[in-house]
Amino acid sequence: MKVVFLDRDGVINEFPGNGLYVTKVSGFHFLPRTLKALKLLTDAGYHIFVISNQAGVGKGVFSKDKLDKITAHMLKGVKAAGARIDDVFYCTCKSSAGCHCRKPRIGNIIKALKGIDKPLDAARHAYFVGDTEGDIKTGKNAGCKTIFTLSGREDQEYMNRWDVRPDHTVEDLYDAVAIILKEDPYPSRERGRRASQGSGSGL
Ligand SMILES: [Mg+2]
Ligand SMILES: [Zn+2]
Repeated sequence: MKVVFLDRDGVINEFPGNGLYVTKVSGFHFLPRTLKALKLLTDAGYHIFVISNQAGVGKGVFSKDKLDKITAHMLKGVKAAGARIDDVFYCTCKSSAGCHCRKPRIGNIIKALKGIDKPLDAARHAYFVGDTEGDIKTGKNAGCKTIFTLSGREDQEYMNRWDVRPDHTVEDLYDAVAIILKEDPYPSRERGRRASQGSGSGL
């Protein structure tokens, strides 16, 4: 099974800063090698899901409508690069809401897997890529392999204080993808690669 779960802020796009949110399209900036990385994963036949906490919506800092616009903008950029994100799952609840979808809880991972008819057990073969301890905990709670990227909120020094250890620590999503593809037990998707190159239309 080829599934990768990605945090959004600090992994796909620039981290907006501690306690801050991306509240509008103009505040969303892809990190330098994100689109290249997503293209590689797409061509290798991976399902890609974004799992992100956006409590700013629940707190009234920005609206669900703004969040939807940001998501549409992100997906458009991804598509234009010849890559594909299967689906995006947010927790927009307040941090205190006690919901099942807020990371490090795994409600959104279960939902994503259900969407491709997989039980939670399948997460053992999936990766979770994130820039915070909460992301690494999420991945571990679901049973995924975990990759910590230094492209966002937390650094090596933070990591020394964590009570979890990621399986890998890398600079950014591109380097995370390099590891995923290297560890891939089924590197058999040349077909997908050729098909997407051959189309040339960018869909
Ligand atoms: Mg993040
Ligand atoms: Zn929630």
